[in-house]
Amino acid sequence: MIQAKGYAAQSPTTDLAPWSFERREVGPHDVQFEILFCGVCHSDLHQIKNDWFPGIFPMVPGHEIVGKVTKVGAHVKKFKEGDLAGTGCLVDSCRECENCKEGLEQYCLNGSVQTYNGVERDGKTPTYGGYSNTIVVHEDFVLHLSDKLDLAATAPLLCAGITTYSPLKHWKVGKGHKLAVLGLGGLGHMAVKFGVAFGAEVTVLSTSPKKAEDAKKLGAHKFVVTTDPGQVKGVTGYFDFILDTVSAEHDLPFYMSLLRTNGVHICVGAPSVPYQVPAFSLLGGRKSVAGSGIGGLPETQEMLDFCAERNIVSDIELIDIKNVHAAYDRMVKGDVRYRFVIDMATL
Ligand code: NAP
Ligand code: ZN
Ligand code: ZN
Repeated sequence: MIQAKGYAAQSPTTDLAPWSFERREVGPHDVQFEILFCGVCHSDLHQIKNDWFPGIFPMVPGHEIVGKVTKVGAHVKKFKEGDLAGTGCLVDSCRECENCKEGLEQYCLNGSVQTYNGVERDGKTPTYGGYSNTIVVHEDFVLHLSDKLDLAATAPLLCAGITTYSPLKHWKVGKGHKLAVLGLGGLGHMAVKFGVAFGAEVTVLSTSPKKAEDAKKLGAHKFVVTTDPGQVKGVTGYFDFILDTVSAEHDLPFYMSLLRTNGVHICVGAPSVPYQVPAFSLLGGRKSVAGSGIGGLPETQEMLDFCAERNIVSDIELIDIKNVHAAYDRMVKGDVRYRFVIDMATL
């Protein structure tokens, strides 16, 4: 076994703290890479706090993982020592079901393996994430990264990036569409960048008036403070799509009133509390509420290549791993500009 070190939560009520653990030896199809940076996703906090379901502890969070390959198995074709490499939210899937065959491994019908807070396909070995120094992943679940982009700012593409890129692609959001991005955090700021790159008119719907300037810098065409009824009135019945990245309980019918006829409210945020949607919010204007989960491996590589071509990365604050709880506190308050990334050299 390979000795690894990282930061783990021992239970949902304890803080993250240094922890040593083991990773499997590098198998014939495995890639081992040194983790240089790991993004902090709101899902990390949901999971260490058992917001969604009882987690597997000790838990090493982190699924926006980038680094440099240190070892490859005998049959590995895609990577060699020294290459840049990244891993997102998935480390395995069945590869046989219809979804896997279509490159939708995130919807594997036999259950994909999450990068942390999951179990390997043997049904028993827990997975540990990227708040650590090294990781071993099957080459099919390792992504190529461009050396033209800042590596730390590339990390959030592995979750925040693909989670917003995938639904915009699926619903073919682009020229002629009015897109609202609800919530300007980690996912939201990537959604703005992609929406703009795809040619949509992008409006940020935010509870934080102080983010207006940033939204403009990110490329948004409009900024609406959702707690100001005057501003909200101007966009009632206005949007073709709302991409909802909100992490906490919120009033879906209120936001759906901003959709035009046939509009689609796409949920990517994952609050722990169920949404309440009255029938009349849907049938008045033939509206839809939809959802989207991360993205499959081929689409994640496509997104990374698109970002390399267009010079798109995340706007980040690089942090020392010791300060991860302060980062969580700021994230909960909506004070994230716009993704915290852990410098793993501080481990
Ligand atoms: P984040 O950085 O904390 O951003 C969330 C933003 O939502 C906040 O910055 C805030 O923006 C807004 N917000 C927070 N509470 C709100 C409330 N009560 N009402 C309205 N707006 C509120 O979080 P993130 O990392 O982007 O993740 C967002 C959510 O997506 C999380 O629930 C996460 O678990 C989920 N997620 C889902 C997937 C998927 O596959 N679907 C993947 C990754 C993450 P303003 O200040 O602009 O209002
Ligand atoms: Zn995430
Ligand atoms: Zn499958």
